Amino acid sequence: MPAGASGPRGLKDPQSPDVRAGGNSLLLLYRYLYLYLYLYRAPGIRVMKPSDHIRTVQSFARRELIGSEAVLDSFAEAPLPLYGRFADTGLANWWLGPEYGGPGLSMTESVRIVSELAYGDAGVAFTLFIPILATSMIGWYGEEPLRKRFLGELAASNGFCATLGSEHEAGSELARITTTVRREGDQLVLNGLKAFSTDTDFSEFVVVIARAEDDAGGYLAVVVPRDTPGLTVEKRWEVLGLRSSATYQVRLTDCRVPAENALRGNGLRLLEIGLNASRILIATTALGIARRARDLCMDYAKGKQVKGAPLVGNAVFAAKLGQMEMQIDVMANQCLAAARDYDEIAARPDAAEEFLRVGTLKSALTAKMFCGQTGWGVVSAASEMFGGVGYTAESVVGKLLRDVRYVSIVEGGDDVLRDLVFSRYVVPVSKRS
Ligand SMILES: Cc1cc2nc3c(=O)[nH]c(=O)nc-3n(C[C@H](O)[C@H](O)[C@H](O)COP(=O)(O)OP(=O)(O)OC[C@H]3O[C@@H](n4cnc5c(N)ncnc54)[C@H](O)[C@@H]3O)c2cc1C
Repeated sequence: MPAGASGPRGLKDPQSPDVRAGGNSLLLLYRYLYLYLYLYRAPGIRVMKPSDHIRTVQSFARRELIGSEAVLDSFAEAPLPLYGRFADTGLANWWLGPEYGGPGLSMTESVRIVSELAYGDAGVAFTLFIPILATSMIGWYGEEPLRKRFLGELAASNGFCATLGSEHEAGSELARITTTVRREGDQLVLNGLKAFSTDTDFSEFVVVIARAEDDAGGYLAVVVPRDTPGLTVEKRWEVLGLRSSATYQVRLTDCRVPAENALRGNGLRLLEIGLNASRILIATTALGIARRARDLCMDYAKGKQVKGAPLVGNAVFAAKLGQMEMQIDVMANQCLAAARDYDEIAARPDAAEEFLRVGTLKSALTAKMFCGQTGWGVVSAASEMFGGVGYTAESVVGKLLRDVRYVSIVEGGDDVLRDLVFSRYVVPVSKRS
């Protein structure tokens, strides 16, 4: 459906002179038919054309997520049993290629899937897609036996994996990380404290970004099985939003793995490349959340009376929803544009080298920044619309507000990403668009 035709834009206030006078009856009929179609179609199918996978994810979201907000927001024990039921759909780790036994869906398809999951619950979406950060580093830069073993086992078990990058002291200046890796014979030994890492406790393996003890400027990305002695989960963070997900502080104490578990290349560069995929999908969660907020507003406005008429027919409301639809449309387009950029490189025979050359994708950075800021604006406007109830735990919109906040923080806050866009895409004249 074209963007301009998808909202109640153009509906007139029932109190306006032309409506009171009867106006053009055909036009009125058209408007009411249009409003009926708008109000009563199934939720979650508006932004993107559904494929079979999308229908599967939509029905999972309707069955397991929508209406279960109280449980999902309760900070229940992770992982929730519903992740097993998601795996029953055949879509666990949907991006893993057929060479590992996975469905091998593209980033474009991933955007569609994550938008639907986040429509239901952003924490569930985040839990399910964040393994893509670790698997893409292994997929592009692991030697074949390593890839086959870890990605093959992940696809077979429908399991999870995690990335251990962030540290308290270093913050976003990852070059300052203090987790170390040293070589001892045919083994690597890792030591350090990692501040945040999602899914770790129930992962099959993790990818650790560490400073090479014997090389001042060297960093490695190393695959460490979860059950390696010395890998300890110290705590689960009590997060404000995404409460169905689980993010941990993790310590590595003399963790030993075979030297072949190191990925090829500089660990910081590999992390930067892995972040392309996960940043696009983090941006997409804001899209799903914003779509849900819009639909909650429409439902609310059907029942809310203002000046003796439903709020849904009010011109002020129509303007707000028209604005929201414009924001949602641009968010969707930016996520899809970034996904297309990603897919174009991923389809090349020299994809790993091309990603190394390109590094961080501009469209992935701008998608995360734009969707984080715009999603926050949409949900904030939605919460205001619910009046006092919008500021209570009774309303789902409050949960959406807490959920959407992470988009502008995780995997680089906006200050950090603005700095990256400036240094990589504004300073070099040749890269300016
Ligand atoms: C729910 C959740 C899940 C997470 N999951 C993972 C995970 O799985 N793996 C992982 O490795 N990490 C994970 N993280 C960490 C997350 O990616 C970081 O917290 C995030 O990137 C912000 O970095 P920071 O916390 O180091 O803060 P910093 O980047 O240090 O920011 C602190 C302050 O410094 C400012 N600042 C920093 N750099 C600049 C700059 N260049 N210019 C101007 N101002 C600047 C910021 O704007 C901010 O005000 C997770 C965090 C959360 C909350």
